[in-house]
Amino acid sequence: MNNAIYHFRKPVNETVVNYYRFDSEEYRKLQDALKQIESNKIEIPLIIDGKEIYTGNTGVVTMPHRHQHILAVYHKASSQHVLMAIEAANKAKQAWMELSWVERASIFQKAAELISKRYRYLLNAATMHGQGKNAYQAEIDAACEVIDYLRFNNYFASKIYSEQPLGNDEVINRVEYRPLEGFIYTISPFNFTAIAANLNTSVALMGNTVVWKPSTTALLSNYYLMKILKEAGLPDGVINFIPGAGSEISHIVLSHSDFAGIHFTGSTHTFKSLWRQISEHLDTYKSYPKIVGETGGKDFVFVHNSANVDEVVAALVRGAFEYQGQKCSAASRAYIPQSLWKSIKEKLIDELATVKMGDVSDFTNFMNAVIDQEAFNRIMRYINIARNSTEATILFGGNGNNTTGYFIEPTIVQVSNPHFVTMEEEIFGPVLSIFVYPDDKFEETLHLCDKTSPYGLTGSIFANDRYAFVKACRILRFAAGNLYYNDKPTGAMVGQQPFGGSRGSGTNDKAGSHLNLLRWTNPRTIKETLLPVKDYRYY
Ligand code: NAD
Repeated sequence: MNNAIYHFRKPVNETVVNYYRFDSEEYRKLQDALKQIESNKIEIPLIIDGKEIYTGNTGVVTMPHRHQHILAVYHKASSQHVLMAIEAANKAKQAWMELSWVERASIFQKAAELISKRYRYLLNAATMHGQGKNAYQAEIDAACEVIDYLRFNNYFASKIYSEQPLGNDEVINRVEYRPLEGFIYTISPFNFTAIAANLNTSVALMGNTVVWKPSTTALLSNYYLMKILKEAGLPDGVINFIPGAGSEISHIVLSHSDFAGIHFTGSTHTFKSLWRQISEHLDTYKSYPKIVGETGGKDFVFVHNSANVDEVVAALVRGAFEYQGQKCSAASRAYIPQSLWKSIKEKLIDELATVKMGDVSDFTNFMNAVIDQEAFNRIMRYINIARNSTEATILFGGNGNNTTGYFIEPTIVQVSNPHFVTMEEEIFGPVLSIFVYPDDKFEETLHLCDKTSPYGLTGSIFANDRYAFVKACRILRFAAGNLYYNDKPTGAMVGQQPFGGSRGSGTNDKAGSHLNLLRWTNPRTIKETLLPVKDYRYY
């Protein structure tokens, strides 16, 4: 009998390991893990009801920076496997939801420990080679953020479960935080191993079971994540891992009567198409499905003329070009006052000239390759539109080379038209567009920034004038769900900056906070009257 009332203590964010001392043990261990991943081609099966399934219908996982190098062969799900995954999730549901939440959370707490102490190098190396991240970017994602999600969500859950309604001497009121009725469909993007971890474990923590469609271009790290969860004790069928074609999998999942919700991160286009399919099947479902999606961004850096030039330049280089600009939060448009433009431009170009790009195994490379040929083509298309326009000038970069890997130079585009296509549309690559505004049009340009793109994810304001912050914060109220003062618009930390945006950027259910976990609950209120009335009359 376990009758303890247990509270998970408030965690602290996982410490970032430094791999940049090239004579250190950490550096050597990460290099060893990279070599191991490089030389051992693996097979990635489906995992349904805890069992590995090799379907024989296969695809390959390659390195973005050496695209001829095959890291893994993965097996694709057929419609029959999708139905098996749904059945497995439904079968596992009863026992999983009835398990005390502390027992469920303990599994995720163990997974965090396993990653922190035993599998850190493996998961980082898989993210580096599989998704094309440098050592620092992999460490803050596949190690630190994954661990933070796992630990902080347990803490947030303990607060949710202890949140109870008022009662009095005559009445006992309780709220039971049931999971949703049915299974949850999770779809993860390629760009963060941590998002794949959170999309699944946040849902499962609250007693739900899951059918997970991972991104084909993040399969290596996602498969290891799945194995780590199993080692941590995740029971069979709680999370079912089915790589394959998204549209085919969705076709079956979204027309199933037990579909109870979707936890999605990816592009706005994909999310809208999923939402449309869900609405078409509304009469099929037993409940109204919960639809949670974090999607695209067109994130801005807005500079006031009181800002510090060096701080702005560092934020632009990191914010726009870390991970080749493939973060939903990456700075992709900037508004610079005329009076600072000359000095910002000179310093920005000087700094970018020092940026090294290449293979992830060489830790001196700040930038690596973009994820795949499709991304390479899309980004180069935007660069070429800028190259051929009279409204845009390429100030730096603009070249791509996909001979060995999908490499694109960090590219700065100065636009004369603030509505130029690269100021409005998400490019999702290393392209930063800049509009220079007259200093006396600060307020007017803030309104322009607010109205320019359909997104509302992240943004930064650089200033040293407090009135400028206040004005920008007010005018840009709905332009970003995560707003930064004097910092780049990327790098939200679990527990510190709950993450998400609205408008075209998603449902803003704030990953990394209790707000997201609440979406995966279906509360039931139980009232007990201690001495019920025995007569219906009021007098
Ligand atoms: P994507 O939309 O191409 O793919 C996301 C996932 O959806 C992948 O697993 C993909 O296979 C799957 N998919 C595509 N069509 C599908 C369908 N019909 N049914 C089911 N699954 C389907 O996005 P991506 O290229 O992986 O990621 C980049 C996008 O994600 C960018 O737009 C970026 O801004 C966004 N993103 C947003 C956040 C955020 O928190 N707001 C975080 C990371 C990425």
